Amino acid sequence: MQSKLIKTEKLEAVEQMGAAISHEIRNPLTAAIGFVQLLKEQTLPPQKRAEYLSIVQTELESAERVIQNYLTFSKPALERIEDINVKRELSHVISILKPIANQNSVEIITNFSILGTIEGDRQKFQQCFLNVIKNAIESMPRGGQLYINTTYSISDIRIEIQDTGSGMSEDQLTRLGEPYYSTKGAKGTGLGMMVVFSIARAMKGTIKVKSSVGNGTTFTFTFPNFHQSSS
Ligand code: ADP
Ligand code: MG
Repeated sequence: MQSKLIKTEKLEAVEQMGAAISHEIRNPLTAAIGFVQLLKEQTLPPQKRAEYLSIVQTELESAERVIQNYLTFSKPALERIEDINVKRELSHVISILKPIANQNSVEIITNFSILGTIEGDRQKFQQCFLNVIKNAIESMPRGGQLYINTTYSISDIRIEIQDTGSGMSEDQLTRLGEPYYSTKGAKGTGLGMMVVFSIARAMKGTIKVKSSVGNGTTFTFTFPNFHQSSS
């Protein structure tokens, strides 16, 4: 069982990365352009047309995700400070990821505390947990359970994301959050966790990761309880 507290220093190396991102966007765009080219063919049978269109959509969405993650990273300062209703925002993220979970036969089990308000940017909060929960689902290609729990105390709010997936070795855990670090080949960008750390840091949160190869991973986020500190 590996365990570590993520160090924010890691982000500093990342901040020098500049525009090195271009190939991550170029690949899906090149693929999309190729299929649009094929779609110009008048005699294309309807089912081919539908297939190509759905490839174009997937590729464009992939490029969009890279850009979105990159933008969040390059502008880590929170743009808006609002009250974040943890239960509501997490439920929204789960509803977005439900189809992928179903595809992977992943059962999502939630246990939300009634109360809990964090201060920060709602959209970034969503993006942070979208990235984490998506990774958890992707770590269980042959199905499994995903537990999402929140607990509440006077001083802080804790969000736990636990999967029964592949887990990570000590080396993988150390590299987590490095730019472009991905074990998913062409399907991964290796930007998701980098963005997660960046957003959590901006929201004064801490992240603890426990993982065991073959058994799964638990991410524990702790954020200051906003309402407590303001009362
Ligand atoms: P990507 O998902 O594009 O590969 P991320 O930055 O989101 O990039 O994640 C980096 C890597 O961390 C993943 O490729 C995977 O190896 C590992 N990882 C992240 N979350 C989990 C998890 N819940 N279980 C197992 N491995 C994980
Ligand atoms: Mg990811």
